[in-house]
Amino acid sequence: MAISGGCYCGAVRFEIDGQVRMRALCLCRTCQKISGGAGNLFIGLQADDFRYTHGEPRYFTRADVAEAPTREFCGECGVHLASRSPKAPGGMIVKVGTLDDPAVFAGPAMVFWAEQKQGFHRLPDDATVFPRLPGR
Ligand SMILES: [Zn+2]
Ligand SMILES: [Zn+2]
Repeated sequence: MAISGGCYCGAVRFEIDGQVRMRALCLCRTCQKISGGAGNLFIGLQADDFRYTHGEPRYFTRADVAEAPTREFCGECGVHLASRSPKAPGGMIVKVGTLDDPAVFAGPAMVFWAEQKQGFHRLPDDATVFPRLPGR
């Protein structure tokens, strides 16, 4: 099943043709900043299953953080679409809000960085919650 999506203005479009490997919510401070405050809902997939079908994103990687992820965003409207991390070679994550049909997400199975959550965040009942990342 192909999943399509794009940024707010339509300059950058993508398609995913493959399995969703992970459904997650990250509550780390960085994701709070990037998402608008509620945390970042995303799907994890094999980078080979993802391709840009229209336009090209811009890329940003913090130089002052070791092994920082590279964030891919629309240079026109600024919407953040996806990230790839050197800690997860061959994989990538895509923000649920950028999908044409976010309902395919069906909710997070895992929650990351719960130790950085705010008092107003609510954890989903049926998800596995990690204080930081699994295995760390
Ligand atoms: Zn855009
Ligand atoms: Zn995060």
